Amino acid sequence: MRVLLTGAAGFLGSHLAERLLKEGCEVIGVDNLSTGQRRNLDRLVAYPGFRFLQVDVARPLEVEGPLDWVLHFASPASPPRYLKLPIATLLVNAEGTRHLLDLALRKGARFFLASTSEVYGDPLVHPQPETYWGNVNPIGPRSIYDEGKRYAEALTLAYHRAYGVPVRIVRIFNSYGPFMDPEDGRVVSTFIVQALKGEPLTVFGDGSQTRSFCYVDDLIEGIRRLMEVDYPYPVNLGNPEEYRVLELAQLVKELTGSPSPVTFLPLPEDDPRQRRPDITLARKLLSWEPKVPVREGLSRTIAYFKELLNP
Ligand code: NAD
Ligand code: UDP
Repeated sequence: MRVLLTGAAGFLGSHLAERLLKEGCEVIGVDNLSTGQRRNLDRLVAYPGFRFLQVDVARPLEVEGPLDWVLHFASPASPPRYLKLPIATLLVNAEGTRHLLDLALRKGARFFLASTSEVYGDPLVHPQPETYWGNVNPIGPRSIYDEGKRYAEALTLAYHRAYGVPVRIVRIFNSYGPFMDPEDGRVVSTFIVQALKGEPLTVFGDGSQTRSFCYVDDLIEGIRRLMEVDYPYPVNLGNPEEYRVLELAQLVKELTGSPSPVTFLPLPEDDPRQRRPDITLARKLLSWEPKVPVREGLSRTIAYFKELLNP
């Protein structure tokens, strides 16, 4: 199997690349290093089947030789990062998705899109099934990401319908684990790093908004299974274990044994009030459900960040 994977230096892309390399696949990792980390590539270059291309996939892309799969993970993903890169975020999801679909079409490859629970916006239906159309502010600050992904989904299904490209789409709910960027501002990594450094944990708003947190190994297993199933429509993957953000802060304090206080900062504009995946479809289609409870996954992630901060 020969696979092209964009976003290979990122958190999720590097996990899936490593999984495929372990299975004996040849992986061409593509990344422009805009939000990715070089240390994520360090562990991939150890495999003889890995090759890296530093390329912006918002531009047309050609690679030599056959491809079986084109997997598109490239996109800024944390709110602070995509808010700093608004045009690049729109372009990698619009133009980038188009170029990668064209590549898949030329090579006769299967195409995968890493979409997001953000397509549901600030959801009025809870938990969110794939059939929910969402509640997205199309011109708010988060729209660059939400609408970028919604367009990417529409384009992916258009290539499937018009040209018969075999496609897979996952709507990923908040995922966490080792090799997250400690500085990209996502809530799990931020709270853990703050707790380990003894700094205040920054809860936005009153912390009553909810998220549901999926350990990365569970997510990767779900994606791996979906690649083998002939289903072109979006599938939710996430862990329905739902926490208020303030509860998460308290749990991180407990698991790290940190004396850090909790401090409250303003809630960002359009921050979704609640989010929890309905994973009925993934259960049926993939015989998949998350195995790692949040306490266990957080403990593993804390061990990773402890080592990273004090090698
Ligand atoms: P990440 O920021 O760690 O990784 C994204 C990678 O894409 C980075 O290495 C970055 O340098 C690269 N990239 C960005 N723009 C690029 C471009 N134009 N050309 C080439 N490379 C580019 O984020 P992540 O958490 O690994 O997310 C990966 C994908 O999964 C994203 O598409 C994201 O929207 C999606 N997703 C992630 C989560 C999550 O909880 N982690 C949730 C929903 C969706
Ligand atoms: N959040 C927080 N403190 C932080 C970072 C995030 O309270 O330092 C909150 C954020 O407002 C949101 C939730 O945690 O309600 C999840 O944020 P994240 O950026 O991880 O992902 P999102 O689901 O918003 O894309």
